[in-house]
Amino acid sequence: MKKIPSALRDVATEFDSLPGIGPRAALRYAYWLATQPRDHIRRFGEVLARLANDITLCGICGTWAEGTTCEICRDSQRDQTRLCVVATSQDLRVIEESDAFRGRYHVLGGLIDPIEGRTPDMLRISQLVTRVSNPESPIKEIILAFDPDVSGDTTASYLLKRFENLPVTVSRLARGLPTGAQLEYADGNTIADAINNRRS
Ligand SMILES: [Zn+2]
Repeated sequence: MKKIPSALRDVATEFDSLPGIGPRAALRYAYWLATQPRDHIRRFGEVLARLANDITLCGICGTWAEGTTCEICRDSQRDQTRLCVVATSQDLRVIEESDAFRGRYHVLGGLIDPIEGRTPDMLRISQLVTRVSNPESPIKEIILAFDPDVSGDTTASYLLKRFENLPVTVSRLARGLPTGAQLEYADGNTIADAINNRRS
């Protein structure tokens, strides 16, 4: 990237680090951004800085929160007996948008994937087990809302074993979601069906 002003090159390098964006597209975005009103460019930088400064993982469920506890965990109106376990914060958002679930969540931060080297200890599984096995825990039902693929199946079987001796029912959200489908791209009605038809 010779002869390109370093400010443009640096922006292109950052865009290039995003998933699904190659070096050509990264440069195109950098050049496009440079043509924008100065205020727009500054705002772009400011909102990115806020992402670094203003959010942390909720200490209870592990989703993104402004402050130590997220809005869902703070909401006393939500059903505390039901816990929906998801891989990512995006999956949580998709389920929230379906309006089909009024319990609480636990975000694992990914799924077990031996091929990619993602083992249970790299996920928020011990926090989940602690949360559920606490004698004071109000949780009676656990809904595993994972993508219906190999990682989702592996993670579900692993968690089933961990919950074996606990007084909770465990169900898996599956029906309505075709094998290999991604929760993230499913529409609200499909998600709602999958939650309402969950299988133990
Ligand atoms: Zn939370």
